[in-house]
Amino acid sequence: MSDVIRSASCCDDGPEAATLTVDEARQKIIDTICPISSSEKLTLRNALGRVLAEDIISPLDVPGHTNSAMDGYALSGDDLPPSDGQIYPVIGKSFAGAPFNGRCKTGQCVRIMTGAVMPEGTDTVIMQEHVETTGPDRVRIAGGHHRGQNVRQAGEDIKAGGTVLQTSHTLTPADLGILSSLGTGEVRVRRRPRVAFFSTGDELRSIGEPLAIGDVYDSNRYSLYGMLKRLDVEVLDMGVVKDDINELRNAFSEAASMADVVITSGGVSVGESDYIKPILEQTGEINFWKIAMKPGRPLTQGRIGNSLFFGLPGNPVAVMVTFYQFVQPALNFLASGRRSLPWTIMATSSVDIFKRPGRYEFQRGILEQGADGQLTVIKTGQQGSGVLTSMSLANCFILLPEDCDGISSGETVQVQPFSTFI
Ligand code: AMP
Ligand code: MG
Repeated sequence: MSDVIRSASCCDDGPEAATLTVDEARQKIIDTICPISSSEKLTLRNALGRVLAEDIISPLDVPGHTNSAMDGYALSGDDLPPSDGQIYPVIGKSFAGAPFNGRCKTGQCVRIMTGAVMPEGTDTVIMQEHVETTGPDRVRIAGGHHRGQNVRQAGEDIKAGGTVLQTSHTLTPADLGILSSLGTGEVRVRRRPRVAFFSTGDELRSIGEPLAIGDVYDSNRYSLYGMLKRLDVEVLDMGVVKDDINELRNAFSEAASMADVVITSGGVSVGESDYIKPILEQTGEINFWKIAMKPGRPLTQGRIGNSLFFGLPGNPVAVMVTFYQFVQPALNFLASGRRSLPWTIMATSSVDIFKRPGRYEFQRGILEQGADGQLTVIKTGQQGSGVLTSMSLANCFILLPEDCDGISSGETVQVQPFSTFI
């Protein structure tokens, strides 16, 4: 795990540095990450979603042979019919997997199916819909065709010796198809990041336990689990840890010994039982702990040993917002060495949105596409950082940058669809 954190101090600006902007915080996190370099070989199916640790060089042309893109008739481009058409004898058939072995001469054509190898002497295919059968093995082809039509050239998709996929690329379903079309059954991919996480708080109860007054069920571990599960990471759920400095210290070191990334929730404010920041100061290093954002201002970020540390706030919405905005891009960078930011798009707000300048707000919105194709967005109602139903109802974040002083109905606003996080 020594490849996780760069040796450069992550506290160059001092732990008490001023409140950061969202962009500054993102950059400060990325600056401390050294992407995982160790790798393993996996069979194709197991490699879906994994990050390539090698360039893939094609051993062959795809398609391997020039072939027909249509069901129809193959002939030479030198021998196309005049504008009033011409009759041709059909001298044979070429099927996908059963090529025609003869040669097609001037005045002749060959029946051909999609994917079948082009017979010798042919370079053009006439769709069967443009051909009239005039007798057994005789067809009439009308005019108006051109040389090379409806033919797929050997190597037009992939050339032998060419780089098909580059190292650090994340393998998609299309890539599995491409790799199998090359006959490649195994690929070298980077090791997945290991992520340990736990919730902190004396009031937290696990499902199945009775609730006393003031207790709450631990929901952050479940939303965190859900967000992590959708990423290509190994997940280590360490449960709930009490607001006890010794228990927390032990949990920190246990998590750091197992994982590349440690995530906690709760205990990062400045209350009397908020121990995360002091423990990180003692046992690791703080990169920053305040961001000018809402929700999620008290995000404590740094490292413990060689592990990257994220002390997320306790409020359930703040957990999800800070995870998507900071943890997920960091995990992606750790896994691949590529920076990725969620897509944003513009939509028209159908409502007034109140906001004071100062903090970057991530309000929860519902994005809709009207019959005219236009995108509009509304808020999900209550925006409190404990109102987790706002995340469940929403399908996007409405992005209100630091200097924004509110949005009037009808104005354009930037949104981040949740689908970009998957
Ligand atoms: P804290 O940051 O620890 O002061 O927590 C802020 C708020 O979030 C409090 O109302 C906590 O009860 C709540 N909270 C903290 N952790 C969790 C959790 N794991 N699940 C649900 N609510 C939590
Ligand atoms: Mg707490």
